[in-house]
Amino acid sequence: MIPLTPIMRLALTVLTPLLVMTLVRHTAERLWPAHLKRQRLHGVALAVWGALIFGQALAAPALGGVATLVVNSLGGGLVRLPEHGIGWWAGLAAYFLAMDLAEYLFHRAQHRIPLLWAMHSLHHSDRAFDSTTAARHFWLEPGIKTVTIWLAVGVLLKAPVSVVGVYVAVSYYHYIVHSNTQLDFGRWSWVLNGPGYHRLHHSSAEEHFNVNFASLFPIFDVLSGAYRPLRPGERVQTGLDTGEEPHTAGEALAWPFRGVLQRTARRTRALAST
Ligand SMILES: [Zn+2]
Ligand SMILES: [Zn+2]
Repeated sequence: MIPLTPIMRLALTVLTPLLVMTLVRHTAERLWPAHLKRQRLHGVALAVWGALIFGQALAAPALGGVATLVVNSLGGGLVRLPEHGIGWWAGLAAYFLAMDLAEYLFHRAQHRIPLLWAMHSLHHSDRAFDSTTAARHFWLEPGIKTVTIWLAVGVLLKAPVSVVGVYVAVSYYHYIVHSNTQLDFGRWSWVLNGPGYHRLHHSSAEEHFNVNFASLFPIFDVLSGAYRPLRPGERVQTGLDTGEEPHTAGEALAWPFRGVLQRTARRTRALAST
């Protein structure tokens, strides 16, 4: 194996999601779009790319993976997963299931707890829904996930570095899950999350609220009654039901506080005009 310096690892962590997103944008989204492509990129795009580089690529999931490994090296990990042979594969499956269940529960909490929804609604505000949506998360969320999901699984499972590495690599699949493509697994939607299935989760129609929370495995949706596959030919308008979306990078960065900021700005303008 080629030895990697810390700088090379950092560059790889930043470049991989950029590369995956660029690939998806210039192949599947161009050849096989599910809806009209995004008209033009403006301030929000800057925020999206900023969030991608600093929030997603640098912090998550690399930060989460590092957190797990740090917890493990400090003696955490109630169950030690096998490092070799057939046991490694079983451990890999157990790790994926544990992480996916933790992601699932966190995602459900994001839709139920107002403070978490105030942040997560930025991800849902995209009316275009394409691979850039995968990186549209409030900047604080990777940190919150690190001290909840990744920490909890790190305390539960002591996984080999290779297992955590495979999980981090597979997590880039979310750029495909969010892609503007007609890819849909139809009656096999319960096996693996995909663009058609996840687009329904982003629907602005009330009838689609609280369905399809899955990160990788929709089996958790099936078990909790939140499973709703896309119907053949069904069109979905994504975005928030209120129509709210950020128009500048600043609005995206201050997303949960936008109400307070808007009220303060209105008050300031009112005072200045008197
Ligand atoms: Zn959601
Ligand atoms: Zn999403």
